[in-house]
Amino acid sequence: MTLAGEIIATARQMTALGLNRGRSGNVSARTGSGFLVTPSGRDYATMIPDQIVAMAMTGAWEGPHKPSSEWRFHRDLLASRPEFNAVIHAHPVHATALAVHGRGIGAFHYMVAIAGGADIRCAPYATFGTQALSDHVLAALEGRRACLMAHHGMIACGSTLDEALEIALEVETLAEQFIAASAIGPPPELSAEEMAEVIAKFQAGYGYASSPGEPAEEQV
Ligand code: 13P
Ligand code: ZN
Repeated sequence: MTLAGEIIATARQMTALGLNRGRSGNVSARTGSGFLVTPSGRDYATMIPDQIVAMAMTGAWEGPHKPSSEWRFHRDLLASRPEFNAVIHAHPVHATALAVHGRGIGAFHYMVAIAGGADIRCAPYATFGTQALSDHVLAALEGRRACLMAHHGMIACGSTLDEALEIALEVETLAEQFIAASAIGPPPELSAEEMAEVIAKFQAGYGYASSPGEPAEEQV
């Protein structure tokens, strides 16, 4: 499959996995000279590879299809984080519910470490498609490969499209678990030491590289 085909397959998977509904969200992947990104406002079900937009890292693009309105954060992440080759943005219900309250996800569950640290931050609100939003997102993703976006949604990044999708699904699962646990009372959190141990195990190769960019090796 071509990279454009893989981007469309990933976008459709977001819908199939319940990460997105309708035309929300966008997907990008690095190429040799820049990146490919989904077009703005198109239905993933009928999207064809010709509609995927090739962009230079300058933000330049040509052709009949407008790139995603969020091309700035896709560009800025791919330009500043060489360990990422794919970026996924979605509006999943539970992650967005937390983000509406400006809440990130603390260390209530050890799998939070999948995003690279002891918490998953929530980037402050800025209008969609703006450089201000991209700046907020880049700061929230420092040392992490996923973040929430206030009053908006979430971003997950990976060394491949599959990895970014897996992280996005895990973050949404964590958000749902957090909300369920919150119905009983404020969820207690793991200690910094307990999370450090998980992060070290992930780094040692338990399926997930906990440091953004570090490849997952054999399971231990
Ligand atoms: P695009 O269709 O322009 O990619 O926008 C969708 C979105 O989620 C904006 O934040
Ligand atoms: Zn969005």
